Amino acid sequence: PKTIAGEYKTSSERSFIMIKPDGTSRQIVGDVIKRFEQRGYKLVAIKSLVPSQELAKEHYIDLASRPFYPALVKYITCGTPVIAMVWEGKDIIRQGRRMVGATNPLEADPGSIRGQYCISVGRNIIHASDAFDSATKEIGLWFDPKELADYEPIAAPMITAEN
Ligand code: GDP
Ligand code: MG
Repeated sequence: PKTIAGEYKTSSERSFIMIKPDGTSRQIVGDVIKRFEQRGYKLVAIKSLVPSQELAKEHYIDLASRPFYPALVKYITCGTPVIAMVWEGKDIIRQGRRMVGATNPLEADPGSIRGQYCISVGRNIIHASDAFDSATKEIGLWFDPKELADYEPIAAPMITAEN
């Protein structure tokens, strides 16, 4: 990839996907990873951490003026770890959003991760970058470039056609 978020709309496009504390606590980490792996995406980075206040606030800085912002930061920094990941592959930014489902679980497709596992917008299990620019920002915020792996899964030619 030419940039930390890869190259937009190519097989090297990258997205920041994070299992939130409720997802970790409810032990659905394996299912979330399995969905992305089986779809054909490549895991480029993964770590478990309890985010600092500073990190959580910066991650959600665009929502700073919203009434739920303090509660959101408190939820993300509650002490249960999040699973921060970078996934790579064709259309991962838009596909990741579809696989995660709508922000409000009432609107999330029942086959999506939120649609399968949650009922409350304030405990909606998982985060996915919503655009190339936010993916770039979020990957840079949560990971050091040295933590991003560069490798070719053996199945790659069976997943992505050249044309
Ligand atoms: P996302 O990109 O689908 O995660 O949604 P947003 O970027 O709009 O909001 C970020 C996160 O803030 C959501 O995933 C929710 O966890 C939380 N959030 C958004 N709207 C609300 C709300 O109305 N109430 C509460 N409690 N949390 C919200
Ligand atoms: Mg968002």
